[in-house]
Amino acid sequence: MTAARTQTETGLTLPSYADVETAAGRLRGVAHHTPALTSRTANARTGASLVFKPENLQRMGAFKFRGGYNAIAALSPERKRAGVLTFSSGNHAQAIAYSGRLLGVPTTIIMPEDAPQAKMAATRAYGGEVVLYDRYTQDRLEIGNELAAERGLTLIPPYDHPDVIAGQGTATKELIEDAGPLDMLLVCLGGGGLLAGAALAAKALNPACRVFGVEPEAGNDGQQSLRSGKIVRIAVPKTIADGAQTPFLGDYTFPIIQDLVEDIVTVSDAALVDAMRFFAERMKLVVEPTGCLAAAAAFTGAVPVEGRRVGVIISGGNVDLASFARFVAPAS
Ligand SMILES: *Cc1c(COP(=O)(O)O)cnc(C)c1O
Repeated sequence: MTAARTQTETGLTLPSYADVETAAGRLRGVAHHTPALTSRTANARTGASLVFKPENLQRMGAFKFRGGYNAIAALSPERKRAGVLTFSSGNHAQAIAYSGRLLGVPTTIIMPEDAPQAKMAATRAYGGEVVLYDRYTQDRLEIGNELAAERGLTLIPPYDHPDVIAGQGTATKELIEDAGPLDMLLVCLGGGGLLAGAALAAKALNPACRVFGVEPEAGNDGQQSLRSGKIVRIAVPKTIADGAQTPFLGDYTFPIIQDLVEDIVTVSDAALVDAMRFFAERMKLVVEPTGCLAAAAAFTGAVPVEGRRVGVIISGGNVDLASFARFVAPAS
């Protein structure tokens, strides 16, 4: 399935590695080619040879820029003129707003009215029009569909979209091209866009590489889904990993994960805080809690990495300074 696009039983055409290559072409000179980083301390701690891909250093602070930009760039001139729409209060909202500005495409972002002020301000600063809704009484999908129909906007969801998945896959393409073959690749997941794209790229470039997903202990819907063979829905999990609070995988992401991912493991919030401190102290990196999931799986042994060459994706670094300070402050 990595060579050519495949169709699911429900008739969806899944993206393939060729779509990751197309995305890489669109992102060349636009997205940052983030470095491949190593740390002797991390290797000593795990007995493995770890290679980190720090997407906290990506434009707007997370890998989401790759998928958002690719999905907008792929639209026809007519659709670009009409504009795009999404619903998110997190990194995807900023990725769409920022990419829209770079491509000259109007963007509308639907956010809950109780979303953090800082996130609304950042999205508006990138040029997105923010439309607020009441998350307790209104259905965002309904509002989105109405707005889309009224204004002729194209909806770009945060993970369940072929061009979003393909864009996210470019981070792993760069990592393997820079670092060489890996025995394993560790990737965090919420809705699975990053993991599905990573698996497409890893299996095409490095078929022997075993790909693992990592999600918070409090919300292991991905693990349950992979192990049971169908998409399992859970209540929104309580975890500091706010980028991974998605309660179910997507119709595009799940079949790719099912086909190409070895297993999905979980880590605790305490392990995320430990990894956040490690990144700050040892590697001088500001990483948001969700961005620590993959590294925490290596540090805790949730995935046994000893003696292996292991890619670790750091997904993002958007955490407000007050929270960051609280997380990394030594216990007193
Ligand atoms: C969105 C996001 C994730 C989860 O990505 P999915 O494609 O939904 O699995 C992980 N980390 C960060 C920083 C994110 O913004």
